[in-house]
Amino acid sequence: MTAAASARSILTQLHEVMASRMHAQGKLDKVVDIIAENLDSEVCSIYLLREQMLELFATRGLNKAAVHVTRLAMGEGLTGNIADKIETLNLAEAATHPDFQYRPETGEEKFHSFAGVPIVYRERAVGVLCVQHVEPRRYEDVEIEALQTTAMVLSELISNNDLIDEQEALGLAPEQTGPATVSGLPLVKGLASGTAVYHQPRVTIDQVMADDIEVERQRVYRAFDRMREQIDNMTNQAEFRTGGEHEEVLKTYKMFAYDEGWGRRINEAIDAGLTAEAAIERVQQHTRMRMREIDDPLLQDRMHDLEDLANRLLRIVSGQLGTAATQGLRRDAILVAKNLGPAELLEYDSRRLKGVVLEEGSLTAHVVIVARAMGVPVLGRVRGLRGIVREGDEILLDANAGTATVRPAQSVAEAFDTRFAKSKEKQAVYAKLRDVEPFTRCGTRIQVMMNAGLRDDISNLNLVGADGIGLFRTEFQFLVSATLPQREKQLRLYRDVLDAAGDRPVIFRTVDIGGDKAVPYLRSDEAENDENPAMGWRALRLALEREGLLKVQARALLEAASGRSLNVMFPMVSEPWEFDAAKAVFEEQLAYLKGQRKVLPESIRYGAMLEVPALAEVLDLLIPRLSFLSVGTNDLTQFLFAADRANPKLAERYDWLSPAILRFLRRIAQATVGRDVDLGVCGEMGGRQLEALALLGLGFRRLSITPVSVGPIKELVRQVDLKEITDAMTAWLSSPPPDMRAALGDWAAERGINVD
Ligand code: PEP
Ligand code: MG
Repeated sequence: MTAAASARSILTQLHEVMASRMHAQGKLDKVVDIIAENLDSEVCSIYLLREQMLELFATRGLNKAAVHVTRLAMGEGLTGNIADKIETLNLAEAATHPDFQYRPETGEEKFHSFAGVPIVYRERAVGVLCVQHVEPRRYEDVEIEALQTTAMVLSELISNNDLIDEQEALGLAPEQTGPATVSGLPLVKGLASGTAVYHQPRVTIDQVMADDIEVERQRVYRAFDRMREQIDNMTNQAEFRTGGEHEEVLKTYKMFAYDEGWGRRINEAIDAGLTAEAAIERVQQHTRMRMREIDDPLLQDRMHDLEDLANRLLRIVSGQLGTAATQGLRRDAILVAKNLGPAELLEYDSRRLKGVVLEEGSLTAHVVIVARAMGVPVLGRVRGLRGIVREGDEILLDANAGTATVRPAQSVAEAFDTRFAKSKEKQAVYAKLRDVEPFTRCGTRIQVMMNAGLRDDISNLNLVGADGIGLFRTEFQFLVSATLPQREKQLRLYRDVLDAAGDRPVIFRTVDIGGDKAVPYLRSDEAENDENPAMGWRALRLALEREGLLKVQARALLEAASGRSLNVMFPMVSEPWEFDAAKAVFEEQLAYLKGQRKVLPESIRYGAMLEVPALAEVLDLLIPRLSFLSVGTNDLTQFLFAADRANPKLAERYDWLSPAILRFLRRIAQATVGRDVDLGVCGEMGGRQLEALALLGLGFRRLSITPVSVGPIKELVRQVDLKEITDAMTAWLSSPPPDMRAALGDWAAERGINVD
């Protein structure tokens, strides 16, 4: 008999049992007989979860008296291990396993070989199916697969017959597995708690056994075609990727998507009588088991990619396509994902979204900037997340310490609540600084402005007491729209922002699209071929070529600012002529409006962002044409270090406090001394206390930062004496200490300056 035929024979028999009118216990007794006979095994047993213990529910071969008597805790013995880790065991000699435990009442001492698979219901182990044999032998692959298939059918039988407590199985009651703590890189600091929600939810499999094998086969074929199409499209549009889909990952995706072995194994599982969904899941379970046996971190990484792909295939085949955002958040949630794009994050209801945990992520990726602006803590670079966190788990996220506690113990949760309350107290202290003007100890007024990009952000202006908006990222409106926002829509937003800001200045940056800020409706052939989108056709480069886009925006801004002052800033200026060309587009629109006898802005100030290092070499030429210059340290540092800001592998490699960056920034600051131009920084760097301290020491007097940092930075400013920090920076930059961060930290501590 072929493997598929033998599996099908088991399934057919199971089908009959399932359809029979027997009561649940009778069915389980029958099931163990069928498995034992088909696998020619002396023992077959089923353990099910009851009151947090795995209880022997049915057996053939062990002492019947042990049924409903033998009970094992999660993690106890081989059975407990299988359930706890949700993994398959296949041992020629059971007693050699370090977790082996002998239970005399079962009479199992004569059996040497042991194989067991978890019975999984909604991603949680609710039982274990195992076989034992007198002869010491490992079970064949086909036998293990038959066990896994049976376990899937059993999970359906179990849930249909109330053999397990649904609450318990779903983990709504005390958890089946203990607490776990994962650590990662704090990307947005803060504390949060909520239940785990996967950005791409796992598919629930409702039917395991196929009604018609041919139909299932066709469904899988079609799903494979669609998945391959999607992967090919992703590869072709790598420049519009969502952060994590880097070339290497895409290559692996492609390799798996076209892997004939994978398709064949799924087909075999369908031959055995499973539905398309169950077949994909069964093959995946088997692959998981095989990969766990190979202890190679590189392969484990690839396993994640295969998991992603299998989940994608499952979603296609089952039609469950939406992300968790589409389904809506029902409770306070901690979002769990491999990576996200900024637009994807913005789809979530910000009232329910309390925190984000990512397997990837980097400090200056736009999704992180958006999260920071939303005040949502983010922990990134967490390894092995999917093996630990399950949908619905409670998570305490401490993005200050860089940890997340999953399924916390009561005492840990209480301690967390205390810290949470303390951090709120601290926020209350910052809130008191709202109306306090940030003067340094020596009496210099520092401009502390905030960055914004969405209508909802504007309310922060009063909440944190910023001096204005130093960077309004106009492209965010483009990112959250399904189509290109029309002039009227742009105008309304800009007008609302100006209304809310009142007398305080707002610096509107013209669209900076491209890189990790992908807008599908603005694709072009040029961008399709960008190998490195951050250095490619983006920002001002794109805007100057798509002049219509810039014209529309110029008109919207000029009209929105009628009768008031307008500040316009151009991103990614690399040479002075680009600034001139962009300004000319505005002047042309201004002339047009004048011709129409419209009320013009009272004053217009034009500025540039310094993000491309080349511009620093020609600042003397550009400065006379500028009203202000704002250093975008996010992009500048990625170009200085040739380190993609969205690449998680480089997230921790370079420090903003490295001498190379600080010397470069000092050079820019010095180039503006005595010139009639306002200088500021609007990258994420300025929102961090130690970095801000360094910037003050380099001569920067205006910082535009994320709203949550306004309080902490005001607090810092009030403790600083500019001469002292300037002298210290001068000394350090001529002869840099081995660790600038440590030196600055010590320097601050010696003066009693609080820095986080
Ligand atoms: C920067 O590059 O520093 C910046 C502020 O712009 P963005 O982060 O939007 O690219
Ligand atoms: Mg930038």
